[in-house]
Amino acid sequence: MSDCIFCKIANKEIPTQAVYEDDMVIAFNDLEPQAPVHVLVIPKKHIASLLATTAEDKELLAHITCEVIPMLAKKLNIAETGFRTVANTGEEGGQTVQHLHFHLLGGRSMQWPPG
Ligand code: IMP
Repeated sequence: MSDCIFCKIANKEIPTQAVYEDDMVIAFNDLEPQAPVHVLVIPKKHIASLLATTAEDKELLAHITCEVIPMLAKKLNIAETGFRTVANTGEEGGQTVQHLHFHLLGGRSMQWPPG
């Protein structure tokens, strides 16, 4: 999508220091970190949100949740203490960027319920 900021990051129109990248995803530090570790993991393919995923995205979602996020948690030294993974969806879910992304937060004690 031409006006999507995360598509621009994924296709390098906006230069970004990747924390991790492969054919399917790119991960980078959040512009406004809410924890000592705050990384966004996004698919390179434009998907508006979790609601817009289809059966075709199963491999991609499994890759993000079963492989990339656990690998990054270990790499960023938050696996042992614990971390939070969030995919805000829709207006009341707090989604502000309309390109699917998973927040990976760690390095401090998390509270519940979230705000
Ligand atoms: P959401 O509110 O769950 O949609 O999360 C969007 C996140 O993207 C927010 O935490 C923003 O700080 C972050 N963000 C927006 N633009 C950029 C950017 O250009 N680089 C890195 N993070 C960004």
